[in-house]
Amino acid sequence: MLLQIGLRPGIGQRLPWTRPRRAGVRSNRLRGMLDWSVAFGRAVVAVLQIRYFAGATDKPMDFHCLGTAGYHPNRSRHTSCYCVPQCGLVLDAGTGLFRLTELIETDHLDILISHAHLDHIAGLTFLLDVLHCRSVAGRPVDQVRVFGEAAKLDAIQTHLFADLIFPAPLDVQWVTIDDTPEFSAAGATVSWRRQPHPGGSVAYRLDWPAVASCQAKRLVYATDTSGLTDPQDITWFGGDADTAGGIAANAGSGAAASVPDLMVHECYFRDTHRQWAEKTGHSWTSRIAELAALIRPQRLLLTHINPLDESVDPVDSENIRKTFYGELMIAQDGLKVSF
Ligand SMILES: [Zn+2]
Ligand SMILES: [Zn+2]
Repeated sequence: MLLQIGLRPGIGQRLPWTRPRRAGVRSNRLRGMLDWSVAFGRAVVAVLQIRYFAGATDKPMDFHCLGTAGYHPNRSRHTSCYCVPQCGLVLDAGTGLFRLTELIETDHLDILISHAHLDHIAGLTFLLDVLHCRSVAGRPVDQVRVFGEAAKLDAIQTHLFADLIFPAPLDVQWVTIDDTPEFSAAGATVSWRRQPHPGGSVAYRLDWPAVASCQAKRLVYATDTSGLTDPQDITWFGGDADTAGGIAANAGSGAAASVPDLMVHECYFRDTHRQWAEKTGHSWTSRIAELAALIRPQRLLLTHINPLDESVDPVDSENIRKTFYGELMIAQDGLKVSF
């Protein structure tokens, strides 16, 4: 399209040469019109180029769902694992992690662990094959870091990688986060927050700065939790502090509110099983509706789905849409969400 517009003035400029002597006045008038059309054409080209390059500065990031079930796999879902290949980010390491091999784009991986329940760590034992396949393909991963609370990482190394359970060492760096409310990983500033769940879990918030090819992005990941609803929590996620109860922007690190471009939150139970959700430290439909209305992310992806519920809408999402008007999605294995 740009090429066609660019050629028009060139074709127009040839016209006076074809009839140079028939009418000098008309020729001058025609030449003036052509000059004007040339200028107009160039202006159109410039505008189109500006729009083209302006669009290129918002290159999206891709969030891949490798495993979207809680507790155990079923016929269509593996357990919790997600990745953003462009920056080498992996969130949790459930059985879905075996799907990571084909997606890796970096020579490093940063794996953030929410907690040490098996549906979030079992896939760490699959890393040997993932890394082996990358080496064989001539695209090795040189560095793998696994982030999490000290007690959880210690439990993983002591038990999951005990000789009698998995008798092979894993060449990774274990990075404890307890003393660092903010740290750098996968090119982002990462902060975290403790959540209610048996044994405790943490939510992660990742902020990528604006660069030449991409606007600033915020991703929040909160799984295995009955939901953080205090005003300080809502502000931490990036929600509106006033909406959350009039609390000033004073919610600890990174207090400046910025609505999440993508919020990934668990929703294991429907409202009919709210008692089970509260008993087991998981979320239910009305709790998600409440959070979504307060935080108002641009996109909300619900995951950590109950593996016993294989219906199309396992969370009664229409009840969330009554108060949330952003993009609402239910995670499936293989789903890619651009943000
Ligand atoms: Zn879980
Ligand atoms: Zn759990």
